[in-house]
Amino acid sequence: MAPDGQTIAPNVYDAEPIPEAARAEIDRLLSSGDLFRYTAPQDAPVALLEAEFAALLGTRYALAVSSCSAALFLALKALDLPRGAKVLIPAFTFAAVPSSVVHADCEPVLVEVGENYRVNMEDFAAKLPGAGAVMISHMRGHTSDMDAIMALCDAAGIPVIEDAAHSLGTVWGGRNIGTIGKVGCFSFQSYKMVNAGEGGIMITDDPEIAARAIIMSGAYETNWKKHPGLSNSCAHWQNKLPLYNLRMQNLSAAVIRPQLPLVAERVEKGRANHDHVAARLNASAHLSVPDPLGPEVRAPDSIQFNLSGDWTDAQALGFQAASKARGVAVQVFGLSEGNARAFWNWQFLGDQPELPQTRAMLMRACDVRLPTRLTGPELDYIADAIVEAAAEARV
Ligand SMILES: *Cc1c(COP(=O)(O)O)cnc(C)c1O
Repeated sequence: MAPDGQTIAPNVYDAEPIPEAARAEIDRLLSSGDLFRYTAPQDAPVALLEAEFAALLGTRYALAVSSCSAALFLALKALDLPRGAKVLIPAFTFAAVPSSVVHADCEPVLVEVGENYRVNMEDFAAKLPGAGAVMISHMRGHTSDMDAIMALCDAAGIPVIEDAAHSLGTVWGGRNIGTIGKVGCFSFQSYKMVNAGEGGIMITDDPEIAARAIIMSGAYETNWKKHPGLSNSCAHWQNKLPLYNLRMQNLSAAVIRPQLPLVAERVEKGRANHDHVAARLNASAHLSVPDPLGPEVRAPDSIQFNLSGDWTDAQALGFQAASKARGVAVQVFGLSEGNARAFWNWQFLGDQPELPQTRAMLMRACDVRLPTRLTGPELDYIADAIVEAAAEARV
């Protein structure tokens, strides 16, 4: 509350604070100067992070790198696809995803996404034949039908990479998101569940993929010996693959490690916050929050909802302005200038076939951050502001 009794709009921009426990380790690293992951003979912070993250997700191998984008790129390279291979991606994702495909000398094929933010399975099945790989981006943590996707891809022998950048803690049918496909990739960028400013990690159960990614991430000479359980595979690939040097450094791991034990609590809080605001928005005649699919238990730190009914672009822009006037920034994905999540802004891809379903969704889908630290009154402030702004825009 402000001194005059008015509630101040909550700050949703700040990232999660870093636990106090990180300080001692950061001080130790600063005084020793031991920042490179491969200097210490064992137990470097990055190596410990990899072991802890693999245990948390229940997977055999983890490789920490400089970003989720780097992890997606390495995952594609580790699949050893022929140059120009087609890689299916959802048309609703962050520009980093088609960028990683281009970077790996592959060709992205954009698949339609419905108004529930999930892959349109009819379009997916139609575009799958001949694909070299599939990269499923769980955009804003919304999980597409992984059972249907895996059934089609397994039948066709096509590997699936999960872009779980924003899905840490999401569960599908009892399985952790990121462990369903051949490779899962996560982000530690500041606006994700774990904040290291920058950073990413890839997980896999496949020793050949792990070994290839480790070498290409920059484990030159025999540095790969510091990755447990992969000696045969790494020895085989040493000097046969290029080194892209996308390693994580120890300071990042020192910031990330003390946050891992907090993930479960953040996930639970984030889901409760989201569902509270979603119920409030769904009570408005002008707004709707799509339900998750049956097997999905979500881990949101933001909320997406649709302007439902016959909204004009002018009304949608009026809604954005009316929310902003109340101190709550709402982005309509397709109406915010140059949005990196709108496929028509990915000009680096050249001409692409039109995607009418995804375009229609993006023109009415709204995005609001809901950091897990928000309190009940702050969540109510946000929900009130959005509901009132929608009513105002529709008169
Ligand atoms: C954040 C994000 C990325 C990119 O992650 P970086 O670590 O910033 O490279 C990719 N995909 C999705 C869905 C994201 O949310």
